[in-house]
Amino acid sequence: MIDTNEKNQKALFYSTYKLPNRKNLKSSVSLNIFFKQYGLMKHLYLLFLLTTTTLLSQTDQKIYDIVDAVSEARIKADVKTLTEFGTRNTFSDTLSTSRGIGAARRWIKRTFEGISKDCNDCINVFYQKDLVTTQMSKRVPHDAWVVNVVAIQKGTTYPNKYIMMSGDIDSRNSDGSNFTKDAPGANDNASGMAGTIEAARVLSKYQFESSIIYVGLSGEEQGLFGGAGLAKYAKEKGWEIIGVLNNDMIGNITGVDGVIDNRAFRIFSEPVPANETESQRRMRRFYGGEVDGISRQLARYTHKIVRTYMPEMNPMMIYRLDRFGRGGHHRPFNDLGYAGIRIMEAHENYTQQHQDIRIENGIAYGDTFEHVNFGYAKKLTAVNAITMASLALAPPAPETVAIGGIVQASVKLKWSKVPGAKGYKIYWRDTTSPTWDHSRYVEETQFNLEGIVIDNFFFGVAAVGKNGHESVVVFPNKIMR
Ligand SMILES: [Zn+2]
Repeated sequence: MIDTNEKNQKALFYSTYKLPNRKNLKSSVSLNIFFKQYGLMKHLYLLFLLTTTTLLSQTDQKIYDIVDAVSEARIKADVKTLTEFGTRNTFSDTLSTSRGIGAARRWIKRTFEGISKDCNDCINVFYQKDLVTTQMSKRVPHDAWVVNVVAIQKGTTYPNKYIMMSGDIDSRNSDGSNFTKDAPGANDNASGMAGTIEAARVLSKYQFESSIIYVGLSGEEQGLFGGAGLAKYAKEKGWEIIGVLNNDMIGNITGVDGVIDNRAFRIFSEPVPANETESQRRMRRFYGGEVDGISRQLARYTHKIVRTYMPEMNPMMIYRLDRFGRGGHHRPFNDLGYAGIRIMEAHENYTQQHQDIRIENGIAYGDTFEHVNFGYAKKLTAVNAITMASLALAPPAPETVAIGGIVQASVKLKWSKVPGAKGYKIYWRDTTSPTWDHSRYVEETQFNLEGIVIDNFFFGVAAVGKNGHESVVVFPNKIMR
């Protein structure tokens, strides 16, 4: 896949610049004579190689193809289908074939299975479930199974490393415990669910080095039960989760604040892992890392991929776990120490979430199909798809990164070798910058950055694959004296 693509890129480069490719250049006698006559052969050839290498390491045509392949029409059709189950409240009917969460999850499972059939069974689809009882929360109206639909596309090189995209199956109306009245949940969160299904359709056409999980979670509205269940399941199975991209409401562009914006979206990430140890907390006070936890690095990664491949978008990194006092399904993964972020619209409309369908004072309340902007949902789905593709094509991140350079005019970095990496990128940035603004590519596993004072920047290291794709940046987790 990768090699073919590099070839394609080279072909594209050669054809764009109307130059013969390297093989033709060697055999092309008349060109050799031409170059020799002007004494330019060596120079041009070198320049040529440099340009090609730079070109290849900066972007990958495959990622642009993935952006283009995401279908607005399919997302729209799937959101429609999901709203037609009437209510998808976690405690609603499970036996009906047309109404309630049972029918909804069976449809989601069938849909993933259909996608798998189209890629020679490349996706393994199953239910993962846990029982929740009235003892567990006042918001649980009766005991019920919280059932997630899990779809796994195995990676070819690192099958036990996973990147996960999640949406939610369940919905609610004004009363979270009401499981009979209509709750179409078109934006919250059929949009995230449909985006996840669409990402599976698009990415299943490719092979990746790491595994990708597409998941529909349930029990979100009453206490993040589905996410908690799957995070625990992942721990028990020893899954190495590179990151969770939780999508919750990715289809609203008309904000309650009056702003209409189909370019901006938010990436929420907690600052440092919730399960860090007391000694890690103490170390941070002296060595830094307050804004450099693993979820934050995943947020930066997503931000960078979007800036590179979808420059028309406006990703907003929000330096907090979630919205003020509110939650989402990435949190249970964060709780167990996994990197996870929430991707969502920038402008919410509160009259269209968690509301009974009604008209009051001339305002049409309710989370209904007509309010969703599918062109926007398509864009945010593409954001997920390219972030996952890029991560799943990259080698794993270095496990340890050591840093030193106290009272010196240079910074030393040393990191663990990553099998499968071609090289590494050392990143650094001003302490007040949200993004990794400076970098240097090296092929060894240690390096001194001369003339750079450790006190004035933050540093990190990412692994780079032969195909140019990069892992997330690892903030130093070891000190060198
Ligand atoms: Zn909700």
